[in-house]
Amino acid sequence: MTETVPAYVVAPPPVVTLPVAGSGALFPVRRIYCVGRNYVEHIREMKEGDERDPPFFFQKPRDAIVPTGASLPYPVGTADFQHEIELVIAMGRGGRSIPEAEALDHVYGYAIGIDLTRRDRQVDMRKRMLPWEAGKAFDRSAPCGPVHPAGTTGHRLSGAISLSVNGVERQRGDLSQMIWNVPEIVAKLSQDYALEAGDIIMSGTPAGVGPVGPGDVMTGAIAGLGEITIAVVEAEA
Ligand code: MN
Repeated sequence: MTETVPAYVVAPPPVVTLPVAGSGALFPVRRIYCVGRNYVEHIREMKEGDERDPPFFFQKPRDAIVPTGASLPYPVGTADFQHEIELVIAMGRGGRSIPEAEALDHVYGYAIGIDLTRRDRQVDMRKRMLPWEAGKAFDRSAPCGPVHPAGTTGHRLSGAISLSVNGVERQRGDLSQMIWNVPEIVAKLSQDYALEAGDIIMSGTPAGVGPVGPGDVMTGAIAGLGEITIAVVEAEA
């Protein structure tokens, strides 16, 4: 008897990938996790929460990824579209309750990401104690650059992180200022979710977040990872 493969009734979604720096290989993305607050100065500018609260996590859909160099139409449903430059951790191995001391062994590499935010929607949802999806998990909300293997560039535990708009610096910090560092993030997140290879984690943003609009060009940089550039263009008709 021949086994028949069931046909798809609609086209299956494509595999979402990030290029791996320095090779023609691809990093396949499974889930996008984000850390809610991870730099003291940003918590202060957002006027939210206790600076020593444990980290909290939310997700974006993986097809929200936008490659560097893209032109990104101004999103629907917001009048306050903001940038958050973030270090992205790319998981090479999964696990549950990964001990902090072993966490870096599970990391494949690092990338530069921008956690794009419909700030008005996020603040509205927060006030009403509703989920953040409308503010955080919208289409094209996750620009992300190439993955740099830790085996080549080393782990990114310190070094400058910055974002400029039209050449004017808006955000600057150092990865060493993270309240929860990379091993702690992986350890904490893996207590709540079984992590898998292909998961990526946006690790929080330093102070200086702010709005962008059509005609603006964002350049994000992290020491050792180069730069990414995203242009904002008029909303699609
Ligand atoms: Mn963020």
